Amino acid sequence: MHDVIVVGAGPSGSSSALFLAKRGLDVLIIEKKRLPRYKVCAGGTPRYTFELLDLSPSYFDAFNIEKIKVYYRERVREYSIPSNSIFTVHRDQFDYRLTQLACHNGAELLEGEEVIEIEEENNSLTIKTNLGHKFKSRYLIGADGIGSKIARFIGANFRYRVPLAIQKDIPYKNPEPIISLFMGLVPMGYGWIFPKNRTLSVGLGAYAFSPRKMPQVLSILLKDLNHTNIPLLAHPIAFYRGKRRLANERIVLVGDSAHITDPFSGEGIRNAVKSAKIAEETILECIKKNKPLSIYTEKIYSVMARELFLAWMISGIFYRFQDRIFNLMDRFDMGAILSNLLNERTSYSQIFKKILKFIPFRLL
Ligand SMILES: Cc1cc2nc3c(=O)[nH]c(=O)nc-3n(C[C@H](O)[C@H](O)[C@H](O)COP(=O)(O)OP(=O)(O)OC[C@H]3O[C@@H](n4cnc5c(N)ncnc54)[C@H](O)[C@@H]3O)c2cc1C
Repeated sequence: MHDVIVVGAGPSGSSSALFLAKRGLDVLIIEKKRLPRYKVCAGGTPRYTFELLDLSPSYFDAFNIEKIKVYYRERVREYSIPSNSIFTVHRDQFDYRLTQLACHNGAELLEGEEVIEIEEENNSLTIKTNLGHKFKSRYLIGADGIGSKIARFIGANFRYRVPLAIQKDIPYKNPEPIISLFMGLVPMGYGWIFPKNRTLSVGLGAYAFSPRKMPQVLSILLKDLNHTNIPLLAHPIAFYRGKRRLANERIVLVGDSAHITDPFSGEGIRNAVKSAKIAEETILECIKKNKPLSIYTEKIYSVMARELFLAWMISGIFYRFQDRIFNLMDRFDMGAILSNLLNERTSYSQIFKKILKFIPFRLL
């Protein structure tokens, strides 16, 4: 019998497996795809995430971002990003290296097999795969992304509307280290160009905008790029929309399966790794004290709920008043604000207080 089975080898599953394997637990990762697998993602990752993993950005060949440009139709503002504070990663490499590291630390990987059923017994779980294999474990980590089977199994109920994002990854020899964000393209959303090593990720994400019209809007950002043979990929984003049940006695949800992606930025990798850290601490505590894992839900929300809620509130203001927000941006160093926010040196509560000062006089 395994101590822990981790379902999914994205950033949340691979980092959960890494943290627990390092603690000497017997961990099995089950991933339905063969690794390395592609995942549609802009790959923006702050230094803080690498610190949580205790790994250098260079371990993942991360691409160092130096500037950010914000566009509103024909106008543009440019800001410097504090050095070595924001990077981009190729998700196939990032996720695979984390999984390999987990395996070097003792975890076992079963790839190309999908978890289809879970049975709970008194002191253990039985996990069944599509190839008819059965595995027993004491605990289970659901790291199977948005639409998680494990979330459904524990009754997490994430049945609300989530935004859709589309993206093309275009090979590009020497991209400039500049992230470009495009406001005013769609109501309640934004477009982006994220440079990575030898690639430009060009995408668009929006709440409540017709998925059929999205490729047409994205073509505005693609017009100077050679992209005809590049597939356009779509994926929903697991935005936070209020508290839900994230655990039962033997099972916890991490990353997108717990819907803890930042509703303002769409950034989910940092909270995926953060939740893996909290899952590690909870599992170790519960083994030691022989307690059920259910305390995990409160642990996650005591760390994340306030910030996620405020990010949700701020996104409502920001995306509704894009023109006026853009006008205000010349007063702020957006590069430093973004870097501090993603690296957790400032909080949404602090930003929210600043925004409130402006609302009555300048926005409405
Ligand atoms: C277009 C787009 C751009 C984004 N850009 C950014 C960004 O710039 N920065 C950022 O931080 N975040 C970004 N995100 C969000 C980020 O991609 C996710 O938050 C992140 O992938 C969550 O990681 P995860 O490990 O929880 O889930 P995933 O990465 O989705 O991994 C889940 C894994 O589980 C496996 N799996 C699923 N079901 C089963 C099963 N039944 N059995 C076995 N395996 C299973 C899947 O194959 C997959 O490998 C973006 C998302 C989108 C859609």
